Amino acid sequence: MQLNDSVQYLKGVGEKRAKLYEKLGIHTVGDLIEFFPRAYLDYTDTRPIRDCAVGEVCCVRASVYKKQGEQRIRKGLSIFKVFATDGESDLMITIFNSKYQFEALELGKEYCFYGKMQGNLLRREMTSPSFLDPQRENGIKSIYHLTEGLTSKMISGNMRQALSVWGDRLSDFLPSELKEKEALCHLRYAYENIHFPENMHGLEVARKRLIFDELLTLQLGLLLLKGRNKDCTAVRVKDVSITPFEEGLPFVLTASQKQAIADGLSDFQKDIPMNRLIQGDVGSGKTMVACALAYCMARNGYQTAVMAPTEILAQQHYQTFSRILSPFGISCVLLTGSLTAKQKRECREEIASGQTDVVIGTHAIIQDGVEIPKLGLVVTDEQHRFGVNQRAKLAEKGENPHKLVMSATPIPRTLALIIYGDLDVSVMKESPKGRKPIKTYLIDSPKRLRAYHFIKEHIDKGYQAYIVCPLIEEGEEGASGELHAVNSYAASLKKTELGAVRVGILHGKMRPAQKEEVMGRFARHELDLLICTTVVEVGVDVPNAVIMMIENAENFGLSQLHQLRGRVGRGEVQSHCILVSDHKNEQTRQRLKIMTKSSDGFYISEQDLKQRGPGDFFGERQHGLPMLKVANMAQDMSVLVHTQQIAKELLEEDPTLSEETHKGLSQQVQKLFDRTASGN
Ligand code: ADP
Ligand code: MG
Repeated sequence: MQLNDSVQYLKGVGEKRAKLYEKLGIHTVGDLIEFFPRAYLDYTDTRPIRDCAVGEVCCVRASVYKKQGEQRIRKGLSIFKVFATDGESDLMITIFNSKYQFEALELGKEYCFYGKMQGNLLRREMTSPSFLDPQRENGIKSIYHLTEGLTSKMISGNMRQALSVWGDRLSDFLPSELKEKEALCHLRYAYENIHFPENMHGLEVARKRLIFDELLTLQLGLLLLKGRNKDCTAVRVKDVSITPFEEGLPFVLTASQKQAIADGLSDFQKDIPMNRLIQGDVGSGKTMVACALAYCMARNGYQTAVMAPTEILAQQHYQTFSRILSPFGISCVLLTGSLTAKQKRECREEIASGQTDVVIGTHAIIQDGVEIPKLGLVVTDEQHRFGVNQRAKLAEKGENPHKLVMSATPIPRTLALIIYGDLDVSVMKESPKGRKPIKTYLIDSPKRLRAYHFIKEHIDKGYQAYIVCPLIEEGEEGASGELHAVNSYAASLKKTELGAVRVGILHGKMRPAQKEEVMGRFARHELDLLICTTVVEVGVDVPNAVIMMIENAENFGLSQLHQLRGRVGRGEVQSHCILVSDHKNEQTRQRLKIMTKSSDGFYISEQDLKQRGPGDFFGERQHGLPMLKVANMAQDMSVLVHTQQIAKELLEEDPTLSEETHKGLSQQVQKLFDRTASGN
């Protein structure tokens, strides 16, 4: 019996359920055990029905005194009614479609019902509440992320068996000294209680242990990466003047750009390879920094590889690099998936012969074994998802070239140190001169038609616009009504003033080639308006696009809104961002108002961190770290700092974690970094 046994070893898990588990990324029993609940229903905290406010999510304890059988409302919709009382007040429960749930509730028995209180003062109601029999089950229930066909109950059932049968296989990787010093529980206890909390205290103890493990592992990983980089020797580069480069540009570099270039040039003079992150707000002109450093490399006879996240961005970089560098006799090639096999071969031969100075392509193409004999610099344009696992891969690459990463996610200073602990960071705060800050407005639905009119006026003048919706199709999983979806939105525009403009659609479920095609048409101004999901945040530079309208703005985190907004305001013209939200909640409106007041990405990300709205900073993987399962970097900041210290001490004692007592930790680090992040 091993933790990497297939989930099919568990009772009740056949091929079919195994497929469902696969959808959740669970293949083995070990994966299942590490699949932590996303929330808990605390049935121990029950209250009298009359004390629960309407609209509040709460738990009440009541006995069923009457049941009213199936009523068919229409085809595919039937309801069941159950009446219960806590001796003081009545509660009417409506169950939709589930005969099973209805029958599970026995007349005369007492249950705990958990759900949103509805109705009015005289008549309290709940619709399809969760419930349990307090005589038979303990009081805190785990709620898991689900996929259709799989319920939390099924998962709990499998989990129980997994823990009782395979639990002995969980080896506690923390050195026992450390565990004692930090007053942490045993791993087995932690797993038992994260899934089946005995009580709130047990859950807290379990969380404490698991958060500690996760953050310590993360810190060890980052420090190990840093250490690895320090061992290497670098490409030898002569200090060349970049004045000719600067003089060839159609504009004056900003002070931030100059500083970042200077940082890079001085890294080139050191004995260890550069490992630098350029953190610049969208539109701050990061590409020029890469271009200047590639210029310096070429002057030294070294090649530069530039990796972009999409083909269309690779193309755009190719145009920029060749326009600026070719006057100096520096040659650039674009290596893309759309080349024929023959073209690719020729391209590769040219690169291998060392004639090509700058190779530009997507991550996939360049990582895929292209031989670049005089590789001196690798530039990764990650927009914002520069993953630690990719950092690890780059560090493994043989020749130890200098590495430059460009990221558009402004991160609060306190966190940057931790998240990018293995990198040196240049921050670009300034935007090129002549940029007008984007005017941002917060409106509600009744003003939508006016916004359309505003967009139409701009399109008539020859400009372009984006409209972002949170969903691709209506009724998607997790949708709670009222959310706009790209597909139906485009259709609904037909009846409006925008009916006549050239509309394109872009979303994450399209094939990469389709996406590229649409982005390309938009960039060539064959489309006036792009209706899209957030995929557009990793978009191309279309300076002619001047309006960004975001539907259901309350659904996005501030950092994400800022990222989206950065798609406009790239030219000299005044750009606008229109946030549409009907949310009345004061907190939500305050959160969105921040966008109308500030255009400083760093400030906004700090606020994002504080406010923790939907799709928050760390939920969205904007930072490119492995997904954390239990820890939350905003809330667990003190643990984060503490574990960094412990990680340092551990590595001082055992720099490669190869001692017997540290083997388990080392494996944990590997596992964390192997976990790949998936995009939208
Ligand atoms: P990002 O940092 O978002 O990658 P880019 O490098 O794509 O930004 O630059 C955005 C736009 O600003 C490009 O069109 C680029 O040519 C222009 N740009 C870059 N630097 C300057 C500058 N110093 N002055 C004026 N325009 C600039
Ligand atoms: Mg860029």
